[in-house]
Amino acid sequence: MAFNPFKIHELEDISHLPIRCPLENCMDMVAPMDLLFHLKAHHRLHTPGDTYLHLAFEAERCLLTFDPSQLPSRKTICLGVLLFGGQRGSVGQLPAIRGICCSNRLPPISGLDALGDFLPVMILVRKSSFLEWFLLDRNTKPDLDVPPKWEHHELSDPGSQDWVKKEESEINNHPENVESSQFPPSFSPEDQEPAEEGEDIRDLAMYTIWTQGVPCTLPLHVTMTAFDRILSEGRSALRRVANTGRVYPEICGKELPKDRNSMTLSQREIDKLCGTQHHVQLELILSERCQKPTGCF
Ligand SMILES: [Zn+2]
Repeated sequence: MAFNPFKIHELEDISHLPIRCPLENCMDMVAPMDLLFHLKAHHRLHTPGDTYLHLAFEAERCLLTFDPSQLPSRKTICLGVLLFGGQRGSVGQLPAIRGICCSNRLPPISGLDALGDFLPVMILVRKSSFLEWFLLDRNTKPDLDVPPKWEHHELSDPGSQDWVKKEESEINNHPENVESSQFPPSFSPEDQEPAEEGEDIRDLAMYTIWTQGVPCTLPLHVTMTAFDRILSEGRSALRRVANTGRVYPEICGKELPKDRNSMTLSQREIDKLCGTQHHVQLELILSERCQKPTGCF
């Protein structure tokens, strides 16, 4: 297999631990290999038609729209699933074939057989109140690449503790793990424009948009751009796809992502992007070849 300078783990080290589905009230535990089938089987109804799955190749644009007014509060919604295929043009470039991730486990009845070697990336959005968003401790939790602690002990990964002890010092010193505390949040309360007279800041909504994949051998990055219909307003951010480049998932359930994974828009920004329409355009570009700029996320 060709040398890949962006790879930071070996495939045999990647955990197959199931994690709790991040969506809405779904309480299923989902293994990384079953993520694509789970989303297809249980969460397709939110985006009817064929727009739920999007093939996404290296540095190519994927476009979708969503209506912020239809988002329920405090529930994570999946706007769609990107199926990352690496560089376009060669079947041998698909991530599972190159050993970046494991193949998706897809029953023959799923109709998704051709997508087995793509890397699934969820496009997630969560509407929350300003206070919920502001008070939540998103970045100060330790960012060690360690197995999640489950209530049910039988779900723990056998042998994982030995691996953790052996690798912990290296993980602590890895650049990816010291960045989150240094990176300023994409939004701070001081950036918020003054609320209209009579408008309580506690009632303002915040929209957190992020992408989340499965643990794999290298980090994927995503450029997210939200813009209006006539391209007069927009917000853009370069972020890391959560859980990629990790042995163990960093988001194991329904918690909000770290700032390095997400773009946050205030209600005022969303209103500007919607204009007289009810939809925000969202462009996503995935890349596994994105070099992390020095001093950035
Ligand atoms: Zn689910």
